[in-house]
Amino acid sequence: MQYVSTTGRAPATDLRTAVMQGLAPDGGLYLPSSIDAMPPDALDTIATSSPATAALLVCRRLTGGDLDDDALRDIVERAIDFPFPLVRLDDRTSVLELFHGPTLAFKDVGARFMAHLLDHLRPIRDPLTVLVATSGDTGGAVAHAFLGMPDTRVVILFPARGVSDRQARQFTTLGANAIAVAVNGSFDDCQRLVKRAFADVRLRHEVALTSANSVNIGRLLPQVVYYFLAWARHPGLRPPVFSTPCGNFGNLTAGLIAKRMGLPVHRFIAATNVNRIVPDFLETGVFTPRPSRRTISNAMDVGDPSNFARIMALYDGDADALRRDVGGSAHTDDETRACITDTFARSGYVLDPHTAVAYLALRHARAADRDARGIVLATAHPAKFAETVERAIGQAVPVPARLAERLAADPVVTSIEPRTDELNRILRS
Ligand SMILES: *Cc1c(COP(=O)(O)O)cnc(C)c1O
Repeated sequence: MQYVSTTGRAPATDLRTAVMQGLAPDGGLYLPSSIDAMPPDALDTIATSSPATAALLVCRRLTGGDLDDDALRDIVERAIDFPFPLVRLDDRTSVLELFHGPTLAFKDVGARFMAHLLDHLRPIRDPLTVLVATSGDTGGAVAHAFLGMPDTRVVILFPARGVSDRQARQFTTLGANAIAVAVNGSFDDCQRLVKRAFADVRLRHEVALTSANSVNIGRLLPQVVYYFLAWARHPGLRPPVFSTPCGNFGNLTAGLIAKRMGLPVHRFIAATNVNRIVPDFLETGVFTPRPSRRTISNAMDVGDPSNFARIMALYDGDADALRRDVGGSAHTDDETRACITDTFARSGYVLDPHTAVAYLALRHARAADRDARGIVLATAHPAKFAETVERAIGQAVPVPARLAERLAADPVVTSIEPRTDELNRILRS
């Protein structure tokens, strides 16, 4: 398989280069050069397989020829080693829980696959440093994904006062090859430091650096799989509506790729909080990035979603074609809190704020299509956002053992000022 940049100016490349580079040299994002429908019998096989086997079939199609089957099987079995339960929420809605990985967020799927893929594709086994900036969930998912991997360390930059304690502890308490660096500044400062490190030729001569950026094709591909898993277990014959909570739009992009591969889907809903850049685009045809606004679904606080470029490339820039597959729906924090409260009262199910946005969006869509059978993608465990959720439901959310373990461990953090020389000292050590 060749991978092409969304801008079309960089040369097509193989999987190894696309994964090692992250971003294409022309600033575009990589996509598979062709996405073909699966044969009908492959869909039948997926319908009766384990997640790892389904992942093998789907990822084989998207990486065709770049990895031998044993290697790919090994990668998916290590990466996709947790369940994806489909839970009934009301008579027309199921929730696909994507948060049963080590950091209780769906980002584990992409981060773990990418880590094992990178480990397999590395041309040499010299020490490798994975450098990542995080405003929340990414740091934990990436640190866990590379935990204990030989010759590899992960350096996680985070804004000293911008990450919740529960989120931070998922990467500050791991020790081993996960190095947590608190930057006395904002998330933007962290991103700037990462960019400068990658642009520093002398540094890169001394230290082998790679990014685990959210736009890496290695994080996108495995996310296609769970749309198939959801469909396979979805009751009834009508193709489902998928409601996806969106921030940087990687998750939705994966769904659109699944549809291109033959997944029967009625429609997608791009659910956002008030950072409604894409819902506005679907309404007006104008894409206007804006500074992000803070909300209680903070992993979706994105004002310039990078995967929009991939979505437009998949539809050849045709907004009307995109509108036939995707509707937008944006919701406020007040609506989100009320949805968490009201869903708990009616069904006893506890939604996290991100998942609640997607459930709201699906309920809105029912105004036009009463019988729509829907699948809401649940992207985080409610215990990760306990403060908001507990206030909304009026009781405590039990803490899963995995999170409790992290909360009980002692954090180890190196603090720096947002300066290149301070970061370089750590990277060179
Ligand atoms: C990252 C994240 C999202 C947004 O996913 P994108 O692929 O960036 O659209 C939604 N919910 C949670 C909990 C997340 O961590």
